[in-house]
Amino acid sequence: DVLSRRGPPERPQRAQFPAQAQAELSREALCVSLRAGRIKPYFQPILSARTLQPVGAEVLARLSLPEGGMLEAGAFIPLAEQSGLIMDLTRVLSERLIELEPQLRPLGLEFLALNLSAANIEGKGATAMVKHLVDAFAGSSRIMIELTETAVLPNLQQMRALTTQLRLGGASLAIDDFGIGYSSIRALAELPYDALKIDLSFVAEMFDSEKSANLIASMLHMAHSLNLQVVAEGVETEAQRDRLIEMGADGLQGYLFGRPVPIEQFAPQARDLFPK
Ligand code: C2E
Ligand code: CA
Ligand code: CA
Ligand code: CA
Repeated sequence: DVLSRRGPPERPQRAQFPAQAQAELSREALCVSLRAGRIKPYFQPILSARTLQPVGAEVLARLSLPEGGMLEAGAFIPLAEQSGLIMDLTRVLSERLIELEPQLRPLGLEFLALNLSAANIEGKGATAMVKHLVDAFAGSSRIMIELTETAVLPNLQQMRALTTQLRLGGASLAIDDFGIGYSSIRALAELPYDALKIDLSFVAEMFDSEKSANLIASMLHMAHSLNLQVVAEGVETEAQRDRLIEMGADGLQGYLFGRPVPIEQFAPQARDLFPK
């Protein structure tokens, strides 16, 4: 069952607690990790489809385990969202980015993209935090906020308030995971987005059927008709890259070009591969 699969086998007593106890324990661990500075930003390049040069980077959260190793975002972001820690986590990341600004500036990236879950951020705090980040990067890169819409905040009114505030604070906005979650076409048309990210599941399936490819083509067409830039994520093969360029994607992101890595690896990589 779920509990015994999750819990370490050498501590079977844990399985006797209800699921909530397990979640409590994990929240505590996440809290400690936040305070101990074990949440780290990793960087993945986003390339211009026209020049195949990196024009930006997405910041992805990682959690370094005290016993060694790194947790990917999927392993702790949902918990952070559910347990009310996502704002703290985002703030920690944002502060770390500001510390790294002197190392990021020489890379000459047009933009730096940070993820925000729309459902779990208190409007005011988030706006102030983003504005602070925008100001700190005024001399280097534009701050792009990748917003994921979720079921908790489907209210267009609230989304409009949030997106407008973020824009007024100087950030650009991308709608993340378009087409798989709760993002609606209406939201796309009515909210002040600058870019749309095609979810990697569409890219993964693009050669499976004509339908899948048509779906991407349709998203590109719709986004462009609304004056949005389109970034395709999860590009893993040259065939995907070439087809997406042919179809008119503006930006490309994926393991083909680079995995998310810490600043120590990202900075030299960006400098060597793509000299300015
Ligand atoms: P996302 O924003 O859609 O990010 C893309 C995910 O796809 C990342 O996973 C990235 O490592 C992965 N990826 C990139 N290129 C490829 C590829 O070519 N193939 C495959 N299979 N995967 C690729 P990651 O880092 O585990 O993040 C998972 C999700 O967690 C993110 O999805 C995002 O929704 C969320 N997340 C990550 N960092 C943060 C954060 O700081 N704040 C918030 N609120 N959410 C975050
Ligand atoms: Ca994202
Ligand atoms: Ca995405
Ligand atoms: Ca995603």
